[in-house]
Amino acid sequence: MSASKTIFQKIADREISTTFVYEDDLCFVIRDISPQAPTHLLVVPKAPVPRLTESTEADTALLGHLLFTAGRIAREHGLDGGFRIVINNGKQAGETVPHLHLHLLAGREFGWPPG
Ligand code: AMP
Repeated sequence: MSASKTIFQKIADREISTTFVYEDDLCFVIRDISPQAPTHLLVVPKAPVPRLTESTEADTALLGHLLFTAGRIAREHGLDGGFRIVINNGKQAGETVPHLHLHLLAGREFGWPPG
């Protein structure tokens, strides 16, 4: 069973230790292991929701909580210059870990349209 768990599920289940930037009953925030900006955090639900397109109406409050947490963390980290939230849903969008997560990126200029 454990073999099929994603890295984020293993972190959520304390099978892999890591430093939590923030944690509550529903989610945790960690630093991305391969940062794409001076600040690159991941907001991850503890529940094993693979991606947005596999969320259900029962996940509505959780999804809101993830966004709220991203805003709260940005405020607490003084990201006043702006930040970007990214969700890669599916392979074509660049998803590599099939466990929902929000990227919170800050500390540099971001182009538009995104790459
Ligand atoms: P995505 O490509 O959108 O699925 O994002 C997965 C992200 O997880 C990538 O940015 C990886 O660098 C990051 N990542 C993978 N393993 C770890 C880990 N053990 N700790 C922190 N971040 C990780």
